[in-house]
Amino acid sequence: MYDYVIVGAGSAGCVLADRLSADAGSRVLLVEAGGPDRMQEVHVPVAFGKLFKTACDWAYFTEEQPRMNRRKLYWPRGKMLGGSSSMNAMVYMRGHRSDYDAWRAHGLEGWSYADVLPYFRRAENQERGASEHHGAGGPLNVADLRCVNPLTRAFVEAGAEAGLARNEDFNGAEQEGVGLCQVTQRRGRRHSAAAAYLKPAMRRPNLHVLTHAQATRLLFEGTRAVGVEFQRDGRTEQARADKEVILCGGSINSPQLLMLSGVGPAGHLRSLGLSVVADLPGVGLDLQDHLFVAVAYECTRPVSLAAAESKRNVLKYLLFGGGSLTSNVAEAAAFVKTDAGLPAPDLQFHFGPAYYIEHGFVRPAGHGFSIGPILLRPQSRGRITLRSGDPLEPPVIQPDYFASDADLRTLVEGVKLARRFARARAFDRYRGAERYPGPEAQTDEAIADFVRNTAETLYHPVGTCKMGRDEHAVVDTRLRVRGLERLRVVDASVMPRIPGGNTNAPTIMIAEKAADMIRSEQ
Ligand SMILES: Cc1cc2nc3c(=O)[nH]c(=O)nc-3n(C[C@H](O)[C@H](O)[C@H](O)COP(=O)(O)OP(=O)(O)OC[C@H]3O[C@@H](n4cnc5c(N)ncnc54)[C@H](O)[C@@H]3O)c2cc1C
Repeated sequence: MYDYVIVGAGSAGCVLADRLSADAGSRVLLVEAGGPDRMQEVHVPVAFGKLFKTACDWAYFTEEQPRMNRRKLYWPRGKMLGGSSSMNAMVYMRGHRSDYDAWRAHGLEGWSYADVLPYFRRAENQERGASEHHGAGGPLNVADLRCVNPLTRAFVEAGAEAGLARNEDFNGAEQEGVGLCQVTQRRGRRHSAAAAYLKPAMRRPNLHVLTHAQATRLLFEGTRAVGVEFQRDGRTEQARADKEVILCGGSINSPQLLMLSGVGPAGHLRSLGLSVVADLPGVGLDLQDHLFVAVAYECTRPVSLAAAESKRNVLKYLLFGGGSLTSNVAEAAAFVKTDAGLPAPDLQFHFGPAYYIEHGFVRPAGHGFSIGPILLRPQSRGRITLRSGDPLEPPVIQPDYFASDADLRTLVEGVKLARRFARARAFDRYRGAERYPGPEAQTDEAIADFVRNTAETLYHPVGTCKMGRDEHAVVDTRLRVRGLERLRVVDASVMPRIPGGNTNAPTIMIAEKAADMIRSEQ
């Protein structure tokens, strides 16, 4: 018997486990389907791609994408302590302040940028020090890169040459411009939500963490959530929650677990023989994601990350926690408006001093660099549904990419802009042949074909248990599941609209705010 049972030790779950167990009188259980985060590829920043398709990864695939030449896209998600924060690219980005102001404008009281800024700051230990925009002394370390590749510096110069403002802080007063990324690292190691929040809290006697424990069903008494059923070592067990069950399984697994437990669109649940606890038609809907495509060049000098694992670099890392092994690959970024009249950038670019093709699985020989435009404000919406009532079967992931033509057009503009950056003088000493899309792709139609054939997820699915007031809203502004008691969803799935930036820091902010709300209600 516990006060709180938290499902999922990812970005959000680790925050809640820490903040709720800080009250010595609260008994907290955290159940995590994956194992501990012991693999060294979790901790050595440059190696995160090596976690893909291992036991630490749910390794999902989407359905065939009708507008992407029927490709099924690979969607890695972290399955270990820290969840996706243990395998992500460590970019610290909050999105644009207008993202949160738009949430507020849609009736979500308490979620404007001014409302959420204190939670971003509370989470943060900004190594540059505290300021109006940043916090110091929080659990999550936010650092400058310890080793900036010369190609990355060339990208920043190239962006400036193309007319972008230099931006030293994408999370400060202004998002637009070009500059280096800050990263969630500490002393050259990944600072996941597990490292930042969970590990220090695990010493507390009132926090119990169970790994290799996959929740298969929420337990209800009438409309009140009273616990969780989970499988561990081939056995089915139950844990009771006196106060609340908090779902932190992420944008794919949280809606899946709700539906498996009878919470979702009634017709869909009944068609699979599941009995309905609450008819919530929005569960699984409004899936949004950031797509990106890599424009890649050969590099004429041996400076890219292709040489990152040399003996010299390994030594540098072991002795000083520095060198290329601390690279997060996505070392720099740019935020651009395709139309000056837009209120906020609609394209983000990540720069990597490496080929980043098919999640790093395709590694052309030699040195290369990639400029990746990202569709920041997709109009397309997808959905998660159940394939069956079997809790161990992956759900159906249908992002429906490019359902809106505007999304494709924006990414085509992104490819053209990436080429413009690559043509800048700053790249003259490095630029070799264009490998992707290649010189033959010149017309908009040819570039669109390239985008349809090669675009991949930037790993930011959100929206499938969205917060709101309309008929598809799953949780209210306090993240309580509508129509039920003592059940919350706290993770990336509650975002009503995808922020214009990477999603780890926003998820941690949401969990910080949720912890405050939960504690204030007791
Ligand atoms: C490869 C990759 C790169 C990324 N790069 C960046 C980046 O550079 N910057 C950035 O800001 N964002 C990045 N992201 C996105 C960011 O990491 C996620 O948005 C964020 O971690 C989501 O947090 P979450 O709490 O919603 O889910 P997660 O962190 O995914 O946590 C969910 C947890 O719940 C567990 N779980 C799920 N179902 C169950 C169940 N039934 N029972 C028990 N446990 C369960 C999972 O195993 C997992 O540990 C990246 C993501 C990936 C995958």
